[in-house]
Amino acid sequence: MNFPILRYTSLLMNSITTLDDLWMGRPRSIAVGLLESDGHHAIVDPGPGSTLDTLHQQLRARGLGVGDLDAMLLTHIHLDHAGATGALVRENPRLAVYVHKNGAPHVIDPSKLLASAERLWPNELQRLFGEALPVPAENLRILEGGENLKLGSRKVEVVYTPGHASHHVSYFDKTEGVAFVGDTAGVHIEGNSFVMPATPPPDIDLGIWDTSFAAILERKPTRLFLTHFGYSDNPSEHILLFRERLHRWAALTAEILRRAASDSAAMDSFMSATYAEISEHLPAGEAEHYAFSAGLNLSFLGLARYLRKRATAAS
Ligand SMILES: [Zn+2]
Repeated sequence: MNFPILRYTSLLMNSITTLDDLWMGRPRSIAVGLLESDGHHAIVDPGPGSTLDTLHQQLRARGLGVGDLDAMLLTHIHLDHAGATGALVRENPRLAVYVHKNGAPHVIDPSKLLASAERLWPNELQRLFGEALPVPAENLRILEGGENLKLGSRKVEVVYTPGHASHHVSYFDKTEGVAFVGDTAGVHIEGNSFVMPATPPPDIDLGIWDTSFAAILERKPTRLFLTHFGYSDNPSEHILLFRERLHRWAALTAEILRRAASDSAAMDSFMSATYAEISEHLPAGEAEHYAFSAGLNLSFLGLARYLRKRATAAS
């Protein structure tokens, strides 16, 4: 007699919730996915260490604490996505941390990651990202892509999606058709239609990126979940628009590098050209928010580095 109630309860137990890390006091910049299924609680990309208090509050508002979490699914190890992981594991040592094998050494020992971040944001790391504590190796579940995870009754397929980073994976939720793509599909702030690239150093790769788009679309997701920020409801159109702009910005960077007198002049040209393009599509406040969330200056540095590396390899 209780079956209908039980079924209803178990349906209720399956949910995906967007938590807003309110990074740097900004709503809709860093989205954390909370996946609940039959008492299992997983988080996709907890965000940076600087947003730990917010994450605690967001969990508390849903009757949860860090001690209730079972798993962290990291799309990649950049500080804005995974910086808080070590602190969360310290608080809850039974947390399983899923990460691609190429990223794993840098969550166990973040010193190289922090040194390269320090070069990109001199004297700003603490303010932007807070602390990034090491994660004990025994907490890690090393991924290569192709794994099938069972999180409660939820089935999640791990898909290797390099391009933004060589260690990037996406998580395809087979139960609800949602693809958690991290930064593989760029930046798209929920509520807008504009999609823009985020191409920071050191290892973006536009060639490999195309295979990742194909891998995502092949699975026919009904929605994408982006770290910056939230859902995008038309995956094929989204990826088409993103890919077009990504390649166009790479061509723009190549053109600018050919003409510019110096690297800083090149960056200025890139910033003003892309900012003008963003502003054509978005109101002023939103344009600034996109540029901040994607790190527009870093996108130039990443593209310039990629193009130079390719030119060196070809010569
Ligand atoms: Zn990011």
